[in-house]
Amino acid sequence: MSIKYQRPRGTRDILPEEEKFREGLIRAARRLLESYGYTFLVTPSFEYAELFSRSIGSTTDIIEKEMFVFQDKGERVLALRPEATASVIRAFLENQIHPPSKLAYVLNMFRAERPQRGRYREFWQIGAEALGIRDPLLDAEMIEMAVKLLTEMGLKDFQVEINSIGTPEERDVYKRSLLDYIEEKELMRELTLCESCNRRKTVNVLRILDCEIDAPKLVDAPVILEFLSRESYQYFEHVRSYLTNWGIEYVANPKMVRGLDYYTHTVFEIKVKDLGAQDTVCGGGRYDRLVEELGGPATPAMGFAVGLDRVVVALENQIPKLKGPFYFVATVGEMERGYGVRLLKKLREWYIPSDMCYELKSLKAQLKIADRIEAQKAVIVGEDEILKGKVKVRDMVTGEELEVDEKELKTIYENSIQRHKAS
Ligand code: ATP
Ligand code: MG
Repeated sequence: MSIKYQRPRGTRDILPEEEKFREGLIRAARRLLESYGYTFLVTPSFEYAELFSRSIGSTTDIIEKEMFVFQDKGERVLALRPEATASVIRAFLENQIHPPSKLAYVLNMFRAERPQRGRYREFWQIGAEALGIRDPLLDAEMIEMAVKLLTEMGLKDFQVEINSIGTPEERDVYKRSLLDYIEEKELMRELTLCESCNRRKTVNVLRILDCEIDAPKLVDAPVILEFLSRESYQYFEHVRSYLTNWGIEYVANPKMVRGLDYYTHTVFEIKVKDLGAQDTVCGGGRYDRLVEELGGPATPAMGFAVGLDRVVVALENQIPKLKGPFYFVATVGEMERGYGVRLLKKLREWYIPSDMCYELKSLKAQLKIADRIEAQKAVIVGEDEILKGKVKVRDMVTGEELEVDEKELKTIYENSIQRHKAS
């Protein structure tokens, strides 16, 4: 057999075991974010491309290389969303939602990246955006919430890195100084940049700090913290003191600038230890100018996104094996089938995962199917049992058999769940 079709490069099939596990993570995330006052929304999978290029920045990797752009029949330029902050702001403005507003999402994103473990072309983010609040208390709460979110999902060994990148004006002065530093090093022949960074020098010098090849060469480069105004610096100090007071461990990383243009002040990332190259599971920051940039009233804001796929990769060995249905109804002969079908309906009214063999087959063949789909118990219906108003329950693992009243099927199932919960 040769398979004719494969999934597109960089995409994945989330199979039932992972999907069930993932649902649990999402449920925990929803509950947690709701406890912080967030409500969830869904925006379209695609938007006008300009929304993203305007917000993310035309000289960022996402816009330059990673966006899936296409035209509709009216030749309008659309793009699959590479991230959701811009979409959330667009929805916030378009639907006239009043600030302060705390919005959250669980959405798929699309980026044309080089696929590898933990880096896909379609991936999922759980994110939160708080619009209309500017206070260090909110910044600290967001970081705390992200930490709690990852902890509740089951991650243990991770590290929070924070920095402040000030205002665009402060950043401009810093950019000049970083460029001076680089040019002087080049002049002294102490530094050669990679091809992309040579271009970044003129279009977006900050991005060089994100470059895997060149960033390590800039060890003694000036850092942005030295260029913050007193006010910006104090804001950052406030955020840090909240975190310290709350006992949240973090590392200040003065070289972290994040890959999007729209951030101001606080930025943060969370990395999981021993996860390999794609170890960043959460990224976020404050973006006080973005809502205005997109045509709205001045609205300070902050958000973050957790990469759900990477969280799952980190927890891979905790994904429980899925079992088959609890009951598999098998009938001794053709005569009992009607009775079996009715019994199956009853089991389903009790929401007990149950199934049967649809085709008419011998009892032995039916039990073989029960075995193949890993059903936990077979409910065997024969003429004798029907006359007695009973059924036979066979444990598919131990082979042990019991004769019980139909309504006991419910108790057996409930007891088994209780036992499962207790262990
Ligand atoms: P990276 O540095 O890994 O490329 P990023 O800075 O591009 O990440 P963000 O835009 O901040 O990522 O997105 C937030 C989170 O979404 C990331 O920390 C990561 O967990 C996840 N993420 C980003 N891109 C991908 C991808 N291609 N596949 C899977 N997860 C991703
Ligand atoms: Mg990226």
